[in-house]
Amino acid sequence: MQTQLFIGGEFVDAEDGGRLEVLDPHDCSLLANVAEAKATDVDRAVEAAREASPAWQRMAAADRGRLLLRLADAIEADAENLALLETRDTGHPLRDTRNLDVPRTAATFRYFGGMADKFQGSVVPVEPGFLDYVTPEPLGVVGQIVPWNFPVMFCSWKMAPALAAGNTIVLKPAEITPMSALRIGELMAEVGFPAGVVNIVPGYGHSAGQRIVEHPDIAKVSFTGSTTVGKKVAQGAAETLKQVHLELGGKGANIVFSDANIPAAVGGTAFGIFHNQGQACIAASRLIIHEAIAEEFLERFVTLAQSIKVGDPKDPATEMGPLTSTLHRDRVLTYVDKARHDGGTVLTGGQAPTDPGLAQGCYVEPTVVAISPDAEVACEEVFGPFMTVHTFSTDDEALAIANAVDYGLGGGLWTTNLSRAHRVARELRAGMVWINSYKRVNPGSPFGGVGSSGYGREMGFEAMREYTDPKAIWVNVDAQIPPFYPRG
Ligand code: NAD
Repeated sequence: MQTQLFIGGEFVDAEDGGRLEVLDPHDCSLLANVAEAKATDVDRAVEAAREASPAWQRMAAADRGRLLLRLADAIEADAENLALLETRDTGHPLRDTRNLDVPRTAATFRYFGGMADKFQGSVVPVEPGFLDYVTPEPLGVVGQIVPWNFPVMFCSWKMAPALAAGNTIVLKPAEITPMSALRIGELMAEVGFPAGVVNIVPGYGHSAGQRIVEHPDIAKVSFTGSTTVGKKVAQGAAETLKQVHLELGGKGANIVFSDANIPAAVGGTAFGIFHNQGQACIAASRLIIHEAIAEEFLERFVTLAQSIKVGDPKDPATEMGPLTSTLHRDRVLTYVDKARHDGGTVLTGGQAPTDPGLAQGCYVEPTVVAISPDAEVACEEVFGPFMTVHTFSTDDEALAIANAVDYGLGGGLWTTNLSRAHRVARELRAGMVWINSYKRVNPGSPFGGVGSSGYGREMGFEAMREYTDPKAIWVNVDAQIPPFYPRG
């Protein structure tokens, strides 16, 4: 396991020798002591990224792409190791890190490796005699701050488009889950990324994170995390007029209509809320279900929830692991108390599992709560295996419940009526909508939200635009311009 900061192509200690304790959430044992970056270390990283920037920008786009493709291959070759590392660091079950997180990480680097020499400028049909061409220019050094819920995947979502577009990077993983990002740094060094192009500085938000936000030589900060911190990031970045991209929280509405295929909706909803223990910004955390099918659906759903195999995430048979920290587990359990206090009925779960093998870890049972859609737990992001249930009788009522929260990230709907599907998808206030499915992602499809879920997009061409500024260049080819100052 790599435990040092990655700066200027080398693994180094923090200047003050500080270390972070990284715990395994299965039993809260010590996984690693990792160098903790502070403001001075961020400054070193920015300097390295600044020095690497001109050559990286000048490199042929195809060559930048080739390095990203090589990195994708290296990730695939290292897949088993990376998956286990991610599982031990985050508690995310091995079956998911193996089958989803790591393959998706490689796929994202590969997609943007291919994109590097295909993202092109344009020629604008301006007045005769002029050529006006527009080139996408890299921004320079970009700062990237990621949370703890999908650390390895988010490395690729952040790094791949920024690098393909010709930027250099200072990336800060979350203080509790830095391991897979450092491994990606090692792989980058192995496949030949030039020193300083990517720098990785694990550390706390209030020190290393804040320095990234405020650093005058960083052109843009791309932040994924909570809405509360996102607002601070936008405020902090204003001082240096940095560009800001915010991927924030969510409170996904998942509407099941009376004509839905119920078994498919039950399975899709369970994936939507319980995958990664519900620690997903796009989690299907609000089930909005037609009253005519609510009883049948919930009977099936509760049975499924109770059958989910919760346990050691390293066991390939485990379907749900621990949450990523004790702090977060306790926060999620507080929401169960709030739900009870506010008149909610806990249909299943609602506590830490009592199995002695799990008592030391950060576990919470899959939890389903029937409650008013106005309740605090139905409006705030819980970020755990905690789903609220609300019933409706008309499509308009379903949409009103769905759109009543400030968040607007992901949402889903289940119906066999084609026109209803498209109409409701159009009217859902969200950056992403899944019809008869939930929580699909792909490197080519824009990912991001509206309202309190932030602004800007990861993935696809949109991500390349996030990391470039259009530059318009005017050439007088043969224009006869009447002189403004004839005497000149
Ligand atoms: P968080 O906001 O507490 O922390 C996110 C990152 O920001 C961490 O690296 C943290 O160290 C850093 N940070 C904290 N304070 C900072 C500051 N003042 N300045 C700069 N950086 C600072 O979020 P979290 O608890 O780690 O992650 C969970 C949140 O992330 C949830 O709200 C979730 O919805 C959101 N999230 C959003 C997306 C998305 O794409 N929209 C994806 C995943 C997670």
